[in-house]
Amino acid sequence: MLNNNRSHGLWERSAPDAPQTSILRYTHKQDVAVVGGGYTGLSTALHLAQAGVKVSVLEAVEIGFGASGRNAGLVNAGLWMKPEDVKSSLGAPFGEQVLQLLGDGPAEVWSLIDKHVIDCQAVRNGTLHCAVGDAGLNELQERQRQWQKRGAPVSLLNAEETAARTGTSAYSGSLLDLRAGTIQPLGYVRGLARAAISAGAKIYHSSQVIGAERSNGKWTLHTAGGSVEADWVVVATDAYTKAPWPELRHEQIHIPYFNVATRPLPDKLQKSILPNREGCWDTKKILSSFRLDREGRLIFGSIGALGGTGARIHRSWAKRAIRKLFPQILDVELEFEWYGAIGTTSDHLPRFHRFAPNVVSICGYNGRGISPATVFGRVLADHILGKVADADLPLPLTTPETPAFRALKENYYELGAQLAHFVDARF
Ligand SMILES: Cc1cc2nc3c(=O)[nH]c(=O)nc-3n(C[C@H](O)[C@H](O)[C@H](O)COP(=O)(O)OP(=O)(O)OC[C@H]3O[C@@H](n4cnc5c(N)ncnc54)[C@H](O)[C@@H]3O)c2cc1C
Repeated sequence: MLNNNRSHGLWERSAPDAPQTSILRYTHKQDVAVVGGGYTGLSTALHLAQAGVKVSVLEAVEIGFGASGRNAGLVNAGLWMKPEDVKSSLGAPFGEQVLQLLGDGPAEVWSLIDKHVIDCQAVRNGTLHCAVGDAGLNELQERQRQWQKRGAPVSLLNAEETAARTGTSAYSGSLLDLRAGTIQPLGYVRGLARAAISAGAKIYHSSQVIGAERSNGKWTLHTAGGSVEADWVVVATDAYTKAPWPELRHEQIHIPYFNVATRPLPDKLQKSILPNREGCWDTKKILSSFRLDREGRLIFGSIGALGGTGARIHRSWAKRAIRKLFPQILDVELEFEWYGAIGTTSDHLPRFHRFAPNVVSICGYNGRGISPATVFGRVLADHILGKVADADLPLPLTTPETPAFRALKENYYELGAQLAHFVDARF
């Protein structure tokens, strides 16, 4: 991807090829124009095309260039917040609707993968939210209580059970969520694109939207090479937003997140480290995540950018952390490293915006976007199809607001992660 090994790392090397797409070099008319070729935009395009709607996707760089092609691949249910916090923050009727939709989010992802035979290393063996100390365990007990009350298949494992599943004794317990699992994220987004094209959607790469104008009730989106006239516009650019709706970028605080991948672990170690291949993350504020890929590489991630002064600090901390968590890996050699920006919002909730008549957007997934972007992409399609009325949308309509000290807060996350990783005595 743009010959940058640190943008999509392992995923670029192990994903099936992207479907054939072209650069927009002419002017055409469609029913809907989608801006952005990640999960949100491609889920919208797929569901619209399946319903017979003429839809074009304009992607500034390549399919999956944004967060969809570079994330950790943990397919989670719900949001970061505990269910009762989601309900109280969003209020009625949105909270309950979002919990229902996103509780079933992984099932919607698995179903698309099955239906369109998407080659993306899907493993549906659950995720483990791993507790650090007593405080972490208390947090997970509360999460278990709230999800079980809703009938979700989650269970709290003790330290021994967690060690048997993860291969490390670092955790005081874990919450197993059987709805969830892992994927190869770039493979999944390319698969969505392939399915959308088969259903009749047109997808253009290297076709950044640089302007939008409305006349006679229609929108015209301009790229350097051409334009699309459409009745509806879906802005699906999230954390990787470039003009013409910059307010979407301004409302978010970007948190950098990196991943490294070891060489494939020897067979013997793959039998003791994550033998069931769950996806894992921990309860620390500066959290870590880990999982295996199909070849048995350990993928380990945390907050931080692998650019500038942070690269050395984060990389060497990651090696120390892997050694400490898994001393049985005698030689920690990193084969890949990559990073990206997570788009967060001030209250950790996703946003629904209508920038102008028939210009809609859902964004701000706060690091939990694989299922939500897939689901909300479909919701946007249903809205355009008239199946979901304004009053039935699962998120309240909001106007983007720039948080105070946004740039300062973004620096704080990177510098805070550098400091934490530099001084982390545990590793
Ligand atoms: C490092 C990292 C790890 C993560 N880990 C996880 C995880 O394990 N599990 C999980 O659920 N979520 C995770 N996430 C979050 C998840 O990846 C995102 O929430 C999700 O991919 C957002 O999808 P999207 O389609 O909305 O946006 P994106 O995938 O970012 O797509 C937006 C696209 O819009 C394009 N674009 C921008 N401006 C224009 C324009 N003007 N014209 C045309 N195109 C434009 C961009 O090039 C980009 O390709 C992670 C994110 C990161 C960065």
